[in-house]
Amino acid sequence: MPSPRKQHYTRIPSVDVVLRDNKFEALLDQYGHASVRDAIRGTLELLRQSLAEGDAVDVGLAAIFIQVKHALDLLMAASLKPVFNLTGTILHTNLGRAPLPDVAVKAMVAAAGTVNLEYDLKTGNRGQRDAHLEGWITRLTGAEAAIVVNNNAAAVLITLNTLALGKDAIVSRGELIEIGGAFRMPDIMQRAGCQLREVGTTNRTHARDFEAAIGPDTGVILKVHTSNYQVYGFTKSVSETGLADLAHGCDVPLVVDLGSGSLVDLERYGLPHETTVRETLENGADLVTFSGDKLLGGPQAGIIAGRADLIERIAKNPMKRAMRLDKITIAALGAVLRLYANPDRLCDHLPTLALLNRSAADIKAQAKRLRPIVATALKTVAKVDIKPSRCQIGSGSLPVDRLDSYTLTLTPRIENDVALRQLSASLRALPQPVICRISNGTVVLDLRALTDEKEFVAQLSLFTG
Ligand SMILES: *Cc1c(COP(=O)(O)O)cnc(C)c1O
Repeated sequence: MPSPRKQHYTRIPSVDVVLRDNKFEALLDQYGHASVRDAIRGTLELLRQSLAEGDAVDVGLAAIFIQVKHALDLLMAASLKPVFNLTGTILHTNLGRAPLPDVAVKAMVAAAGTVNLEYDLKTGNRGQRDAHLEGWITRLTGAEAAIVVNNNAAAVLITLNTLALGKDAIVSRGELIEIGGAFRMPDIMQRAGCQLREVGTTNRTHARDFEAAIGPDTGVILKVHTSNYQVYGFTKSVSETGLADLAHGCDVPLVVDLGSGSLVDLERYGLPHETTVRETLENGADLVTFSGDKLLGGPQAGIIAGRADLIERIAKNPMKRAMRLDKITIAALGAVLRLYANPDRLCDHLPTLALLNRSAADIKAQAKRLRPIVATALKTVAKVDIKPSRCQIGSGSLPVDRLDSYTLTLTPRIENDVALRQLSASLRALPQPVICRISNGTVVLDLRALTDEKEFVAQLSLFTG
């Protein structure tokens, strides 16, 4: 007598039998033999477990087919997908920072094929990939020259490595920043092969501190934008112009890592002032480094702008090859930079600026439109209220400034942590996941960055609390 367990097993068809069934032909054609075989194996294994646990399961080929197809669909779905950023942080690093404008998307598609990336169409000779961007960066910043790499961390790394390899990089103790993840200025300096010379104290650094540190081993003076914090109270730092005077007095370059770095005066859009790249260069910085996907509103990139002789040295650094931009990013960044040619229309075309510029009244009106719809969809799980909030720009841009916004605040009918987590998980499980934050026993949906209202509403019918 076979054991009951054995008996159950024998009812499950073998992988080969399933593979030979003609229902699976289309799957084999679409996904290939190995993937389908693995999916069948996985599915049969699950059935076997269910049977062993005494569950009633359908082991017919039709049922197996549905499970295998489901497993393959999951396997083949892209894991990177659009989400709604309702976190209240506009430039959210974990959510891909700046949403790109349509012109950039079109440019990326156009660049996907064969392009004149490093080919000079006039002469028929080899060209420079950065030439597609340099002219625009210099035009918009007043810099003599510019070069681009994969991100601002790379920009800082290659700049320090080029100017201060085996030498001192002098920086104020108050600016030895850590910016989320693994970007710590002291670590970057070490990897760049330069010696960190900290001067001053956490809250106060004087010109005389720099003077005392400058010597024959000095490679660079670095000023770092304190992107994600501010020191209040009894503070002192040396101005850019002051640092430039010191640096140039002893023939050392001044590098300013601006982090976000704006190309336009944000005040003209009613936003707080953020030092522009042009101002920083005018203040005497020899090189400025900044991100492409922060306030600039473009794709991930690091831009270095400033003195032509220094940019040329960076271009010759072998590291540049390992950090160069790809054609898709060059296309997108170029399209974004060209939008800056007309600052008056920038808000209409650049999503990042449009989001930052949205009026609180507009967001409130949206909240009023959405509240009853969301309340109906979530009727059994949560109560929905409109609350004013303060948005954060994010990614270390304008760290202490907040923008007035409005939220839909969801209070679960069952008031405990499990219900809260369940509610936010259900929102994340929607086809276009809704990413929100949890605060004071509520799930908070900040609406400032909700542009695609239609799509947001359309998928609410799929919400299953
Ligand atoms: C954001 C930031 C960086 C890193 O830039 P990425 O584009 O994220 O690589 C470096 N320095 C400062 C001051 C920053 O704010």
